[in-house]
Amino acid sequence: RFDSISLAPPDAILGLTEAFNSDPRADKMNLSVGVYKDAAGVTPILRCVKAAEQKLLDGETTKGYLSIDGLPDYRGAVREMVFGDQVPADRVAIVQAPGGTGALSVAADFLASQCSAGPGKPMRVFLPTPTWANHNAIMQDAGLAVDSYSYLGSDRRTLDFDALISDLKTKPSTGDAVLLHACCHNPTGVDPTPDQWQEIASVLSQRGLLPFVDFAYQGFGDGLEQDAAGLRTILENVDEAIVCSSYSKNFGLYSERVGAVGLVAASAQATAASLSQLKRCVRSNYSNPPRHGAAIVATILADSELTAMWKDELEEMRLRITSLRELFVAGMAKQPGAPDFKFLLDQKGMFSFSGLSPMQVDELKAKYGIYIVGSGRINVAGMNEDRMDWLCDAVADVAC
Ligand code: PMP
Repeated sequence: RFDSISLAPPDAILGLTEAFNSDPRADKMNLSVGVYKDAAGVTPILRCVKAAEQKLLDGETTKGYLSIDGLPDYRGAVREMVFGDQVPADRVAIVQAPGGTGALSVAADFLASQCSAGPGKPMRVFLPTPTWANHNAIMQDAGLAVDSYSYLGSDRRTLDFDALISDLKTKPSTGDAVLLHACCHNPTGVDPTPDQWQEIASVLSQRGLLPFVDFAYQGFGDGLEQDAAGLRTILENVDEAIVCSSYSKNFGLYSERVGAVGLVAASAQATAASLSQLKRCVRSNYSNPPRHGAAIVATILADSELTAMWKDELEEMRLRITSLRELFVAGMAKQPGAPDFKFLLDQKGMFSFSGLSPMQVDELKAKYGIYIVGSGRINVAGMNEDRMDWLCDAVADVAC
């Protein structure tokens, strides 16, 4: 009966945003949730998106269902963005999905239903420690067995690469999946170097491990192509992979739910069979994906002017995040006795582990209305140029 159901714990990050929204202080600042904000504190609709929407509105003739695997033009655009021409088209299956989360969920359903660690044993997936909190829930809900590998060092600011490699060499067995953040690791902002990617790729290949790549921030680290470099290295070394991509961040299409599963198989036949099973997972879950967001992406990428506009706007977001990192580090360097935040300059994307303790995080919320996730993860894109001195004074107040 429903009266025996216990209350689920609130989502740690979205719960904070609810608290932020009901905080009456006018000068509050939300550094918790993972959305980009411009200098005015707004999550903007990109100009290329508005232009594409106008085109769609004028030209749209039907609201009929999409096919199970989604809009063909969108799938072609995703293939190019994620895989370039690295893998022959007949070895890649692309399935449109509702956001990166939907893609991870379809991929996890696929792995749970099609692969196993032996008779009656679910497939295992290894997650980095730490990782995006939802990874665990998505994999477990799909019925996969979840395990972990080392990622962040005990300094909480750099990669413990020796521990990572040692874990990948010893913990998983052939056929297990290893989840990797392609770039802009969430929550730490710490990514492997090109040499480290090479070594990771070699271990995956030697040990027969499946790369399960989460690509949610392409273009937010060093640039669109540069951010795919780790993935390219992996694909040079293995003949099977799953890549879940999201266009929430790099097209600012958070609420439109635009993502994709890209599956690479060793042969055209294995690709076709895998695609048929991915489609089965979609069919029994939500039947077919929503059109609008994917149509926006496809429209932009089919039009050279809109594509150029998108690349400029994406670059603007990326460079602004970098400049906020620099402003914050410089601001903190002026605070007597404050910790050194220079490590933030080596980290990529919207997020960083700030090193602030749970107590300092609480104090920032209580005294200043500055909202940060309990782990100390900050969304750099939630900072603001005009209020940087205020933010640095507040951080220095709790951290010195
Ligand atoms: N993976 C990672 C690492 C993320 O940070 C996010 C979004 N916070 C997602 C996947 C999910 O993206 P989407 O919002 O498109 O579902």
